[in-house]
This record gives sequence, structure tokens and C-alpha cells, in this order.
Amino acid sequence: MTMSARENLETSLDAITLWEPHISAFVELTKDEAERQVSVLEVDTELAARPLAGMPIAIKENIATTFGHTNASSNILKNFVSPFNATVTDRLLSAGAIVVGKTQQDEFGMGSSTENNGLPPQTKNPWDVSRIAGGSSGGSAAAVASAEVSAAFGTDTGGSIRQPASMCGVVGVKPTYGRVSRHGLLAYGSSLDTAGPITKTVRDAAKILEVIAGQDPLDATTSSLPVGSYVNACGKSIAGLTIGVPKEFFAEGIDAEVKQIITDAIASYKEQGAIIKEISLSLTPAAIAVYYLIAKAEASSNLARYDGLRYEVGEERIEALLDHYKRIRGEGFGPEVKRAILMGTYALSSGYVEEWYGKASKVRTLIRREYEQAFQEVDVIVGPVSPEPAFLLGSKSSDPLAMYLADAYTVPVSVAGLPAMSVPCGMTKNNLPVGLQIIASHFQEETMFQVASAFEDAHEYKNLSPKLPQ
Ligand code: GLN
Repeated sequence: MTMSARENLETSLDAITLWEPHISAFVELTKDEAERQVSVLEVDTELAARPLAGMPIAIKENIATTFGHTNASSNILKNFVSPFNATVTDRLLSAGAIVVGKTQQDEFGMGSSTENNGLPPQTKNPWDVSRIAGGSSGGSAAAVASAEVSAAFGTDTGGSIRQPASMCGVVGVKPTYGRVSRHGLLAYGSSLDTAGPITKTVRDAAKILEVIAGQDPLDATTSSLPVGSYVNACGKSIAGLTIGVPKEFFAEGIDAEVKQIITDAIASYKEQGAIIKEISLSLTPAAIAVYYLIAKAEASSNLARYDGLRYEVGEERIEALLDHYKRIRGEGFGPEVKRAILMGTYALSSGYVEEWYGKASKVRTLIRREYEQAFQEVDVIVGPVSPEPAFLLGSKSSDPLAMYLADAYTVPVSVAGLPAMSVPCGMTKNNLPVGLQIIASHFQEETMFQVASAFEDAHEYKNLSPKLPQ
């Protein structure tokens, strides 16, 4: 028997009541809108037959919705309500999904732990509430891991879907740059930003990507290539496929247990008939510097629009414009966002732009070429998502460099614009989830889902759930 949309919503709201006091995945709930969507589904039989009909989902705070706020967890947008929906929001709603709330994140997506949130509360990992849920889409990953919702939306500029999914033991998909519209995402790094689903199973992620992918006249960088049959790709045999394993993904800095779990996962592909090939992606160590230069440079330009005049308007009359900017931006942005503006503006400033941004862009092209070359020999590349499992809250928050280094395996993929996903592939002795990263060639999401589902089907990880803290 299938549950009705109303029953699904009730189940979701019950889980939220139980879990939210422990994990704070949401910044706000959008119950009224969810109720409205359920009422429509109850009378609109055509909508009720669509692929996501009655599925309770959550959306990250930096994805525009006309209901609730769209504040990217920044004080500067605290009360901002978007006049339009992001294309992904519209596509989800037209597929029948029910949006129950907006999830917590690092401010404007800048961070890897959801600790750089500009607005409370602090999201915690459902597997161990003394630890981070990952970031920047930490709220979305925690909401799915605790079964508060069936799926949640995140954005991934340098790992923000894959890394929290890995740390919370759920599936997270970063599509190829240009596969999913960016219209209505609050921009971080425009040449890197992507949006994608976080789900409990690979097939749910495949189903959702089919709904949201495809060309959008409102985002000129979306591709006109046809959207693949991601659901049909799931379950296909991987016998004979070549899986590349980059040796640089197992270099110094990786946690020993994570290394072992990933090595075991790769061995299980061999048992299924895949050919395992060690490869070298020699530019991997350069990717963090390249990524952070480009991302912060683009951020400094994107964030210039938040001047306290165009979006959330200052409450009193403006006497002196410069003082107004200083006050609004000084109070509105948190420390990581200010760091991005300083670093990014410097990297773009006249006299330095070639040396910093220009050089980073050149190395970016080399990184992309290195991946393209690797995909001449292999069908997918696998490795860890993150060098370590979820770390303790507060343990890296005073050390931005340590936080950046945690992105070592996700940012090269972003710089190259490739599709990649995280699939739960093991648990540490402390009962913390570890995710396997599966990277495919540009627009080859079908192969990525094929390989991901082969792992999921052969193991029990999708049946594991965290226990409600006492
Ligand atoms: N941690 C990375 C950053 O701060 C990635 C974040 C993201 O993907 N939004 O840039």
C-alpha cells in the first residue's frame, strides 16, 4: 500500500518533532506551504501521478523559494523573501514534491562544517551529535539521515553536497556543471556552483536528477544535451567497466580507517567483475589553491550586490552612502565571508589579477585536461569523499586552512566541472559513516549511477539509520 501525501507529510513532521531538538537541520519549517501542496495533490490527479508526488523534501537556504526565507544563512539577508522560485524549486513542485522547510548551511556556502552559519541554530550530525554534519549543505544531509525528509536539496561548489552526505551516511549528487540550472541559487562561485539531491538511496537521487536536470532559458550555462535515463542506469551490471583509482587520493593526510573502508569498497567492485586500474592525477595537490582562489574571487564579485539597498533594505534613512555600506556589510557578513571578499578582491585587483586569478585559471584548465585524459582509459574514478569522518564540533573552526584541507578530494572535481556523488560505503569503529566518491566524465551521470547502484545493491548500508539520542 502506498502512503498518501498527507500521511507522508505527517510522518515527516513527526520525525522533525523528534529529531530537531537534537540536530537542528532546519532554519525554518514551511508547514503552511507543505499543507497547501498536499491539498493540491489531493484534488489534482494529474499532479498526483507525477514522479515525486507526495515526497517530503527540504531545500537549502540558498535556493530561492517564494515561501519561507532565502537567506543563505546570512545576516545580510535575514528577512529576505524571494519574489521567484529557483528553477530547481519550480521543477520539484511541478513534479509533486512537498517542501517542508529550509535547511541550515554555512553562510553563502562557504565552509565544510555548517559552523560558519550566520543565523542560528548549529546543525549536528545525527550519528553523533557532538560532531559536525559536514557542510556547507549540513542541514540537508542531517535532515535526510534522520529521515525527517525523504530528500533534500543542496548546492555543491567545492564539495558541499558530497562531503555532508558522506559524513551523514546518505547519498549526495553533484551533477556536471551545466546539467542543472543555477537560476535562483544565491551565487558563491558562478563557474563552480551546482545544485543536486541528497537522498537515502541511489535510485531516489537518480529519479530526482531526472526531474531537475536539463536546459533552462534562465541559465545560459545549462547544456542542451538530453537528460539521461538515470533510473534505468541503476541496477545494470558493471562487469567489464574500468574503475580508475587515483593514487593521489590516498596520500598523506587520509585517516587510516577511511583508507581501509575505501580500499574494501574498491575490492568489492572487483568481485563484481569491474577492472580496477591505478591511475595518477598528479595535479590533485594543486587543486585546493586553485579552487580557493577562483571560488573566493568569484564570490567577492557576486557578493558586491549585497549593499543593503537592493535586497534587504536598511531600516533608517541613509545619510552617507559609504558609512551605510560599511555598517551593513560589516554587520551583515560573517568572518569566512569577509575573508572571501578580502582574498577574492586581492586576487582580482589590478596588478595582481594575472599573477593570482589568471594563474589559477590556467592550472584549472590543466586539471580539467588531466581528468579528460584519465577518462580515455577509465569509465569512472573512485576514491574517498573526505580524508576523515565527521569531526568534532569546534575542532577546526579557528583554523580556516585545516578546514580548507578537508576539501582535498572534492574540489579537484569541482574545478574540472565533473559529475560526482557520495555513496555510503562503511562505518568506522566509532559508528561514523564513510562515503565513497564516484566521479564520471562530463555528462556521464548514467555511468555514475550505474556504478553507485552496483555498490548500494551489494551492501546493506542504505538500511542503517542513526538512533534518536536520549
Ligand atoms: N568548503 C568549500 C568552500 O568553502 C566548499 C563549499 C561548497 O561547496 N559550497 O568553498
